[in-house]
Order: sequence, then structure tokens, then C-alpha cells
Amino acid sequence: MKKPTVFIDRDGTINRDAGYINSLDNFEVYPFAPQAIKLLKDNGYLVVIITNQAGIARGIFTENFLEKIHNKMRKILQKNGTDVDGIFYCPHYKGSKMPEYAIDCDCRKPKIKMIEDAIKTLPIDRDSMYMIGDKYTDIQMGINAGCKTIMVKTGYGAGEIENDYHNWPKKPDFIADNLLLATLSILNKKI
Ligand SMILES: [Mg+2]
Repeated sequence: MKKPTVFIDRDGTINRDAGYINSLDNFEVYPFAPQAIKLLKDNGYLVVIITNQAGIARGIFTENFLEKIHNKMRKILQKNGTDVDGIFYCPHYKGSKMPEYAIDCDCRKPKIKMIEDAIKTLPIDRDSMYMIGDKYTDIQMGINAGCKTIMVKTGYGAGEIENDYHNWPKKPDFIADNLLLATLSILNKKI
């Protein structure tokens, strides 16, 4: 059976945005994030992470290292009795010195290939999709893919809302202080 699905950005939404995260110690999950993901999962939603990781194309870290970060994240979630259903990342940057990553790709947000790939591999109900993120590019991708969208004020969120809100051609459906409150707005049918 197809399930409602919440796509979640990673840096600045699930974990503190510390620039390009190239050490395990710099990867710090927000204290409210495991509870937010558990609430969604316990209520029958799929949870899928959608993240741009151009640090790979820029030679700052490898895909192997990114996997270590994601293992650390999943261990934290599992300790809290939950997990995500998938993680989709874009490693590309067209100015990369590594030809395999120097691609003007279709996956880098706000493009929607990561969501399309998720739909191909998971039982996602296309009519009930949400995107939560801290940057307007997350919101744009969500809108482009047919999601309801929630912008959080953690990470870059508060700054982008303060400085750029009036420039956005389409606004997010909801603005929440953080991922947990974003989650509650979905579960309480506020959006
Ligand atoms: Mg982010």
C-alpha cells in the first residue's frame, strides 16, 4: 500500500549546519530530530532524506565518508527507536575537477530527480508528499515535485525568511520553528 511521505533536508534541518561536514565529530543531530522522525514513522509516514552534498564533487569528503556520517545518523535514530526509509543525495557540482562529479545534473535541488528516484524505489503516495527544509531551494524542489512544503527556521531558515521572503515567487505552505514543530503541523493537519 502506498504511504504518505515526508521528505526531509539534512543539514540545518536534522543536524546543525556546520558547512561541509568532513569529520564525524562535526555531525551533530538536533536534539528534537529523532522524536520528530519517530512521530512520523509511528503515524504511518515514510521518511526520506533528500540532501545536496556537493562537498563530494569539491573534493572535501568522499562518498565513503558520507556513508559513515549517515551510519552515525541512523545509529542515533535507531537508539531512539526509529529510522529513515531512505537517503538520497546529490554529489555533483559542475565545476568539479573530478569528471564523474562534474555534471550539470538533474538531481541537485531545486531539481527533483532525487524525489523521482525515491518514488521509483519506495511505496510513496504521490498525492500525499511533504518537503521540510531550511532553504528556499528545498521549498522550490518540493513545489516542483508536487509536495506541500514547510520551511524551518533552524539552519539557514531564519536568515532566508528575514532577508529573502519577499523575493520568493511561491511561498512555503507553513513556516515552523524546527523539524519537530513542522512534523506536528503535518500530523495535526494544519497543512
Ligand atoms: Mg539544509
